[in-house]
Amino acid sequence: MSYYVTTPIYYVNGEPHLGHAYSTIAADILARHMRQRGEDVFFLTGTDEHGEPVTQEAEREGVTPRELGDRYAPRFRQLAAKVEASNDFFIRTTDDGHMKRVQEIVQRVYDNGHVYEGVYEGWYCPRCADFKTESELVDGNRCPIHKIELTREKQDNWFFRLSTFQQPLERLFAERPDFVTPESRRNEALAFIRQGLQDVSLSRPTLKWGVPVPWDTEQVIYVWFDALLNYVTALGYARDGEDLTERYWPAFHILAKDILKFHAVYWPAFLMAAGIDPPKRMFIHGYLLMEGHKMSKSLGNVLDPDEVIAKYGADALRYYCFREVSFGQDGQISPAGFEARYEAELANEYGNLANRILSMVGRYRDGTVPEAEAEIELAADFEGAPERVPQLLDGAELTQALEEIWRLVRRLNQYVEETRPWDLAKDPAEAERLDRVLYGLAEGLRVTTLLLHAYMPESTSRLLEAIGEPGRELSRFGSRDGGQRIESLPPLFPKIDA
Ligand SMILES: [Zn+2]
Repeated sequence: MSYYVTTPIYYVNGEPHLGHAYSTIAADILARHMRQRGEDVFFLTGTDEHGEPVTQEAEREGVTPRELGDRYAPRFRQLAAKVEASNDFFIRTTDDGHMKRVQEIVQRVYDNGHVYEGVYEGWYCPRCADFKTESELVDGNRCPIHKIELTREKQDNWFFRLSTFQQPLERLFAERPDFVTPESRRNEALAFIRQGLQDVSLSRPTLKWGVPVPWDTEQVIYVWFDALLNYVTALGYARDGEDLTERYWPAFHILAKDILKFHAVYWPAFLMAAGIDPPKRMFIHGYLLMEGHKMSKSLGNVLDPDEVIAKYGADALRYYCFREVSFGQDGQISPAGFEARYEAELANEYGNLANRILSMVGRYRDGTVPEAEAEIELAADFEGAPERVPQLLDGAELTQALEEIWRLVRRLNQYVEETRPWDLAKDPAEAERLDRVLYGLAEGLRVTTLLLHAYMPESTSRLLEAIGEPGRELSRFGSRDGGQRIESLPPLFPKIDA
């Protein structure tokens, strides 16, 4: 089976920040997890380099839009690498391969009769690069997102007949209840569709920075269609001489709630107009909020991803983002919150557990995992985990899946306290029990670490190597016999002093 996951592509009008990292890490966890399940995965991220937000920023800085893109696109590429994203391709909408294919698809929509010429008049937000309907305006005539005052604009445009897709979209939402998740976002998109869809402009006459409309090169294609099409165009040229579209399309999109309407309404309609299947699914996430943050001793009062990664490693950041805030909702994050979870959960509950198990196998069994059968009370708690976690991640429920996994981490800690291997080791009559306990702990650690691998690829790889696990595929508790050599390991998540 193939699995194609995407992040939104990011505007090159400023430095990347934690919000960008958040979407990218989410998609990466899914990509890595699916690879562990043996799926044929393609993971795409990249930059959106056309349109008004980019030209405006370029003007402010006194450079051309292309220069701005050339400056920032590498930063986004570096950010992806820094957070350990395993993307298979990085698209830039200024790529020739993208622009050529955008023109082909837009031409197809035109040929299929879904485009006409007209005049658009409405409230326009240059920061959104979008017209707002009367009902969307707030405080008189302000953008609901940017809160800036909007002006009425009149433009000769090519229009996309979005209105004719109301029924097909309603049918799509009815046939595929999980097309958009979480459900609150699905309802929001559906309400927007049901209130009646208006045609939307497909081109901009006033802007030169973009993909020319193939039949009217005086205009450029509206940046939103140009950008959305990246999800399809990339498959056409990501691999030299190979078209991956058949192999990977349709995609699973990860995106933030501010771009819901474009992805859940415009995008599937436009694809249908071009004769292309709509996306498989999309998951809409919320924002990480950093208001009223508490100071931490080593990170100050701003959670800066670069600083966190430099001090604690990318794994810790990846973990924290999905542990602290339920994926799909808005939630507060803070440097102090990060530090608390790092110490209590990563350093103690998981890192310390790993070191305890490694050292007990070292001390009591000379570094070899005993060949024994786990005790039933431990084995029972692991039953079903290799099914529950994938099921949650099929729906991009990253926080709930992590909670499932963490329950196993806590169970292992509890099992150590219950069985007290250090006492068993003093009594030769308990040798067989100790074998079973140590086997169960090593096996539980292995299975749990494989489940955690998608979230924290670097540290889990070190641990898996230390316990003699060469594979990365998900594994059932009890499926590996003992007998492996175990090596000791420096703390996975060392205590950090300010
Ligand atoms: Zn706006």
